[in-house]
Amino acid sequence: MIILAVESSCDETAVAVVRDGRTVLSDAIASQADMHATYGGVVPEIASRKHVEAIAALADRALREAGIGKQDIDAVAVTYAPGLIGAVLVGVNFAKSVAYALKKPLIGVHHVRGHIAANYITHPDLEPPFVCLCVSGGNTMIVDVKSYTEMEILGATRDDAAGECFDKAARVLGIGYPGGAPMDKLAQGGDDTRYDLPRAHVAGAELDMSFSGLKTAVVNLVHNANQKGEALDLPGLAASFGAAVSDTLVPRTMAAARKCGYGKIAIAGGVAANSRLRADLERACAKSGDKLYLPALSLCGDNGAMIGCQGYYEYLAGKRDRMDLNAYATRDISRG
Ligand code: ATP
Ligand code: MG
Ligand code: FE
Repeated sequence: MIILAVESSCDETAVAVVRDGRTVLSDAIASQADMHATYGGVVPEIASRKHVEAIAALADRALREAGIGKQDIDAVAVTYAPGLIGAVLVGVNFAKSVAYALKKPLIGVHHVRGHIAANYITHPDLEPPFVCLCVSGGNTMIVDVKSYTEMEILGATRDDAAGECFDKAARVLGIGYPGGAPMDKLAQGGDDTRYDLPRAHVAGAELDMSFSGLKTAVVNLVHNANQKGEALDLPGLAASFGAAVSDTLVPRTMAAARKCGYGKIAIAGGVAANSRLRADLERACAKSGDKLYLPALSLCGDNGAMIGCQGYYEYLAGKRDRMDLNAYATRDISRG
């Protein structure tokens, strides 16, 4: 079964062609990150306009690179939530028009479910159930993936997402947008004990998280250093920051895994590319005996392939959307 998959929830326009869920025939992506870098973050209205400009040509490219024609498409999958509402709407309307014109099924896919599915593409042997740490620009949660389409949130951030925290810290340090990858790079060789940064706990909710205090701590540190005219140890700060994020995420993921007892842990989303987080999880899983699944670096950030993969499993589970499919800025992952 061949699925044309569309993703436009943030600042990447992406269209992929995926066969039977796990074979990626093409994965065309147009990033707008350079455009938004000027503003230090994604400007929603610009994102929507850029998606409109890019999407049709990108779909043509995806078909060409897959070596198929429109008539070969069996279904159309599209991210319909969560994300920037105007941005998501562009993909949803494009996918609807393709499905309508070709008279093929339309499948709305939850974006974070898509991030989780990136693991199925990377690891042909991976099947639910497993526990997945989902860490991206707008979401941070630990999910019990009971089946391909049944999920429960075990813990989540009460405020900022981990990726957002990386981006804000990078912005105040003046090292660019999006900030996760440059922070990761800067941290290499830095002393991770150089700065004492907070690791927050949510009272009475051992699997929940909070990152806003960490963000504020970095902002205050930079502000105070600037006022006093003191130089900061940037690699040390980036390394201390990465350690604080990882120290928050890893123990909770391991606790969730113990609770579920599946013996399998995966991670997903843009922050899953973080080298400190990957190394710490590898170490923790070597100790606990859990099998760890890390998504390919190329599939951590937003892409169409992951939506095609999850769309396939949603289709198998009977999900069909109609021409009244709407876009949503927020949506619980357990609702699909
Ligand atoms: P969401 O998936 O929650 O809707 P999004 O789609 O904007 O948000 P992703 O594309 O999944 O988010 O991930 C982007 C985030 O990942 C950004 O915050 C970026 O800084 C972060 N990121 C990317 N690479 C790294 C890295 N190596 N270390 C830490 N963070 C990273
Ligand atoms: Mg992006
Ligand atoms: Fe994403």
